Amino acid sequence: MAKIFCVANQKGGVGKTTTTVNLAAGLAKVGQRVLMVDLDPQGNATMGSGVDKRQLEMTVYDVLLEEATITQARSRSDKLQQAGCSYDILGANRELAGAEVEMVSLERRERRLKAALQAVDGEYDFVLIDCPPSLSMLTLNGLCCAHGVIVPMQCEYFALEGLTDLVNTIKQVKANLNDDLQIIGLLRVMFDPRITLQNQVSEQLKAHFGDKVFDTVIPRNVRLAEAPSYGLPGVVFDPASRGAQAFVAFALEMVQRIKSM
Ligand code: ATP
Ligand code: MG
Repeated sequence: MAKIFCVANQKGGVGKTTTTVNLAAGLAKVGQRVLMVDLDPQGNATMGSGVDKRQLEMTVYDVLLEEATITQARSRSDKLQQAGCSYDILGANRELAGAEVEMVSLERRERRLKAALQAVDGEYDFVLIDCPPSLSMLTLNGLCCAHGVIVPMQCEYFALEGLTDLVNTIKQVKANLNDDLQIIGLLRVMFDPRITLQNQVSEQLKAHFGDKVFDTVIPRNVRLAEAPSYGLPGVVFDPASRGAQAFVAFALEMVQRIKSM
């Protein structure tokens, strides 16, 4: 059975997509079968996995509207295959922005993705869902099917404030829609140990959330930021970089974590 994780934080630009694609590539690299679902109309995770969002015939949008199955709509990237870090991609593009409105009148609208994932459950060890920077119907679809939420965050002052809203949303979804749901962990990203405030916030996080804070820390690393323009996760683009190595370590930490779930 696949373990399903949402990468979510309603704050924009905190590293959700970077986390999703690099964790997917890292897990593939250590032999896990992975499906990456792009739930963001920006389609950054799709492009960052080497799939051109403008060329897609079917996307997660068709799956949400029950016009296609995941088996029909998923794709693979040749570049990732060549690098030996291949994972399946259920892509997204601008069309997905319309889904929010089109789904308003549909039944079971927040459970569409869950139903679709059940059909491919046996084919994967991990399903990773890249959520948009909002607590919208799209994010809700992700949270409804997930076993856990991975929350990437920068160790800055306002990061803790935003976390309260996310924690409350997750509690509500757990109470009303998905009893399985939990925060599997907070991932410190874009970390710079030379900045005193970041170390302080990191300590506060550990004091507050204990073992919910992942051991792995993702450093600020320019190679991770450069990789998407080549249509590659950093783990594939420059495997020797500090950022790539941190994400492979994170993949191994996730493999350990799911053993105790
Ligand atoms: P959005 O909310 O728009 O979906 P996001 O949370 O998915 O954004 P990303 O797109 O992953 O965030 O990252 C935001 C920017 O920060 C990108 O330009 C990305 O390349 C850069 N970035 C992410 N992680 C790192 C890192 N560890 N080191 C350096 N740059 C990073
Ligand atoms: Mg993103």
